Amino acid sequence: MKTINNIDFKGKKAIIRVDFNVPLDQNFNVTDATRIEAAKPTIDKILKDGGSVILMSHLGRPKGVEEKYSLNHILSKVTEVLGQEIHFANDCIGEEAQTKANNLKPNQILLLENLRFYKEEEEGDADFAKKLANLGDIYVNDAFGTAHRAHASTTIIANYFPENKFFGLLLAKEIESINKVLHESKKPVTAILGGSKVSSKITIIENILDKVDHMIIGGGMTFTFVKALGGSIGNSICEDDKMELALEILKQAKEKGVQIHLPVDVVAADNFSNDANTQVLDVTQIPEGWQGLDAGPKSLELFKEVVLKSKTILWNGPVGVFEMPTFANGTIKVGEYIAQSTKDGAFSLVGGGDSVSAVKQFGLENEVSYVSTGGGAMLEMLEGRTLPGIQAILN
Ligand code: AMP
Repeated sequence: MKTINNIDFKGKKAIIRVDFNVPLDQNFNVTDATRIEAAKPTIDKILKDGGSVILMSHLGRPKGVEEKYSLNHILSKVTEVLGQEIHFANDCIGEEAQTKANNLKPNQILLLENLRFYKEEEEGDADFAKKLANLGDIYVNDAFGTAHRAHASTTIIANYFPENKFFGLLLAKEIESINKVLHESKKPVTAILGGSKVSSKITIIENILDKVDHMIIGGGMTFTFVKALGGSIGNSICEDDKMELALEILKQAKEKGVQIHLPVDVVAADNFSNDANTQVLDVTQIPEGWQGLDAGPKSLELFKEVVLKSKTILWNGPVGVFEMPTFANGTIKVGEYIAQSTKDGAFSLVGGGDSVSAVKQFGLENEVSYVSTGGGAMLEMLEGRTLPGIQAILN
């Protein structure tokens, strides 16, 4: 892989696309510095070689120049995380940025103002990309979260570094992790897919049917399958127009030798609320007025058995409405089974939105092999798409 590992940055200026799109409170304090911390290994490696670093990122969704989205707000946090003084350019292109980049000495860091103050960033404008490119000698992309966008700083800029473009360590790790699941996996491979709707997961399901031995389907998606198979699902969430598709998936899975595991029982509620009355019911016998909001104990035993014998595990989407404590048990348990299996030697990847928040919320972040940093980007990779930001480095 074209990573920065084999490159000596001595005397070079690396322009790095990072993802510093961090959450801020009303007083513009950074409330979660995970993304800044995640970029540190790449920055440290370049500085250690005797190179200098120019950091570029977006923050929020500004419409033109909006002070509240200035990267100036995160300067002190970046300084704290990276442990050294950071120079700041009040514009990501133009004279000031160019001069500050030119004057940058080895081991120094320059942070550029928000890329999205220019609409040209998201438009993928070539002139704008060229101006950014002029600031550095080597281009490094370490922003997985935006790798699925063909923006100026994530994709187009790479054209100006035909021989000098590389993946940062974070992006390389993301690619490596997903490859371990989709292309170089140890069998048995299990995908656990949850979340609310079949429609938002269908492309992923279709893409990974060729790559897995087991597929656990949980969460709200369950009920479209169960109803399609003739079960009574009461008021559970269901996409009637996707029932045929659900049957088609089951048929394809059978043809491909993939074992599908649906919940057999659920924690049902008489209301979509944390203090609803609940009862455990057979998933095919939910009466009117009740809806399934979490996996039941028998389902969890079944999931446990599958997860513990897996050597590769992919988890995307909660198996219940984990935001409400009453219905979080299934998602917590699934996380724990994955942690156990990982301890026993399996490779586990958690990716895409809500399951990432779930593992973080339940403190299991360090007990799985890898937690992806990119929601949309990870989902697109699982769907089998080539991400423009990754392709641009490989070209
Ligand atoms: P998604 O964004 O499609 O991955 O869906 C995540 C959401 O699915 C979470 O907010 C969960 O609360 C929700 N979810 C999980 N299980 C159920 C269920 N049985 N009924 C309704 N929503 C659910």
